[in-house]
Amino acid sequence: MCYNTGMKTIIEQINKTHMNRDVIEKAGDILKKGGLVAFPTETVYGLGADALNEEAAQKIYAAKGRPSDNPLIVHIADMEALDRITKEVPEAAQKVAEAFWPGPLTMILKKSREVPKGTTGGLDTVAVRMPDHEIAREIIRAGGGYIAAPSANTSGRPSPTEAGHVASDMEGRIDMIIDGGAVEIGVESTILDMTVMPPMILRPGAVTEEMLEELIGEVEVDKTLIDPDSKKAPKAPGMKYRHYAPKAELVVVDGRIEAVVDEINRLAKEKEEAGSKVGIIGTQETVGRYKAGNIKCIGTRTDESTIASHLYGILREFDSDGAEFIYSEAFAAEGIGSAVMNRLLKAAGHRVMHV
Ligand code: AMP
Ligand code: MG
Repeated sequence: MCYNTGMKTIIEQINKTHMNRDVIEKAGDILKKGGLVAFPTETVYGLGADALNEEAAQKIYAAKGRPSDNPLIVHIADMEALDRITKEVPEAAQKVAEAFWPGPLTMILKKSREVPKGTTGGLDTVAVRMPDHEIAREIIRAGGGYIAAPSANTSGRPSPTEAGHVASDMEGRIDMIIDGGAVEIGVESTILDMTVMPPMILRPGAVTEEMLEELIGEVEVDKTLIDPDSKKAPKAPGMKYRHYAPKAELVVVDGRIEAVVDEINRLAKEKEEAGSKVGIIGTQETVGRYKAGNIKCIGTRTDESTIASHLYGILREFDSDGAEFIYSEAFAAEGIGSAVMNRLLKAAGHRVMHV
């Protein structure tokens, strides 16, 4: 499949509090005509197309260079929109929707005939989310109500958390980019499969296992998310691909924090002496203790949501700085931390050192 490299990409800034209707209408028109519009959500920037128009959805795969068996999430703006694209909505799913929508949670449900298989990667199920972002929801409504929107990055690169990231991957390949500033959360939505019993988390995100269990009882977590040696294929089709990869070789160092800092200092010195460019991912609590390399502070351990919101941006910065090796501290795999560690380990190709 080809994409149109000569395409002129319109870039428009828009503000949540003073939303410019003309820009929303223009985005909606492009989507209705089968075009591609990138827009902010609370998780990461999405690359939108009309989810019910097979040809439009196919353009997403071409622009991202995404394998066509990797299904797309359909974004809706209102609860009433759910019926048309699903065959049935179990009671538990209704409860989850009421509690967490709009929000960073995607549910897998049985699809209706209206959703083309080109959107679902050939599956009989559909992934649905209602984003907690006013601009996103207005664009979804203006575009017809059903917008497939994977992260707006080239397949394999870190997901975009600001419009500049989208432009650097997608300019010339898509019709429009809506710049609504930096996103809030910074890692993709939790994916919960509601077609199995008990429901299963296929991707960790800001809505955690604990939050879901409190509401609907037992929830399973796909083991392949945590155990890199698992021989089983991940249940979510997209999970088999190496995602979120920086250009450098990334290694996560895990252990007691003093030992981690010492080991990263040792590794950084060794690589620098050999003439390599080294990046270090530290935290507010540790950055002062690093002695070599290009040191970046990802956030504070006292609030792991700060780490989530800076992760992808920092990986992209290291790419533009030309880092060849990146050493990162490990983070507590609790709450949003489990989403952070899931993405970090994938970016590292599961290279972890225990000290
Ligand atoms: P994203 O790149 O954030 O749009 O991720 C979409 C991911 O959602 C895919 O890579 C799949 O892992 C998952 N997904 C979407 N639709 C389905 C589905 N019908 N069944 C299982 N997983 C799905
Ligand atoms: Mg993605």
